[in-house]
Amino acid sequence: MRNQYLQAMGITRWVKREPDPVSVDKFDIEKENLIPEQAKPNEVELSVVQTPESHQADNLDWPSLAEQVSTCMACDLHATRTNTVFGEGSEQADWLIIGDAPGTEEDLQGVPFLGQGGQLLTAMIEAIGLKRQQVYITNSLKCRPPESRDPDTEETMACHVFLKRQIELLQPKVILAVGLVAAHNLLESSGPMKTMRGQTFTYKDTGIPVVVTYHPAYLLRAPSNKAKAWQDLKLAMRIVAGEMA
Ligand code: SF4
Repeated sequence: MRNQYLQAMGITRWVKREPDPVSVDKFDIEKENLIPEQAKPNEVELSVVQTPESHQADNLDWPSLAEQVSTCMACDLHATRTNTVFGEGSEQADWLIIGDAPGTEEDLQGVPFLGQGGQLLTAMIEAIGLKRQQVYITNSLKCRPPESRDPDTEETMACHVFLKRQIELLQPKVILAVGLVAAHNLLESSGPMKTMRGQTFTYKDTGIPVVVTYHPAYLLRAPSNKAKAWQDLKLAMRIVAGEMA
């Protein structure tokens, strides 16, 4: 089956060259709102709406965080979304995969990474020996930018409180940032992909390692870079396996 997943990634030319530090048997190819007690119903509703001045996510648990996101109006993207896209997967996952922002299909269904890019991401996850439900997948932005444009700095900063809290709750062994929007947001960098992939960063002062790789949508357009993406996945696997200091 692994070969089928890798074939779905379009990396059929990758071959095993030498024993991998990550078991080659396993990876057998190279490859708070206070609500007044007497509050009226409409006051209660207003109290959970996140505005640019009020939104915060500190100390929220998973359900409360998802609720905050679902009512958020902290940036202009709330006006054009169909659904917020909070994220999905295991809340005990070792891997946190972060993309840029929801696209058209994700906005309609409220689920991250759908369509062909989502299929390729699933193939990448299965190539590392996991099922999609065993990792946690989300985006830097929880609402789709109109015309699927790149989110601007103000929007990204407004939404980061939610991503930050997701990271705090999950405490993953590795964060895989797919695409430059996610990488720049997480690492407060503006470097090009070629200088960001192939090395290990740390998310702020958490000590959580961050590996940067290409976005699946980009890999669909530039499949020759899938081999590099596989190298990035192997780096992340070594981190999760505890083989990287
Ligand atoms: Fe709120 Fe993020 Fe959506 Fe902006 S993109 S409205 S900050 S959830």
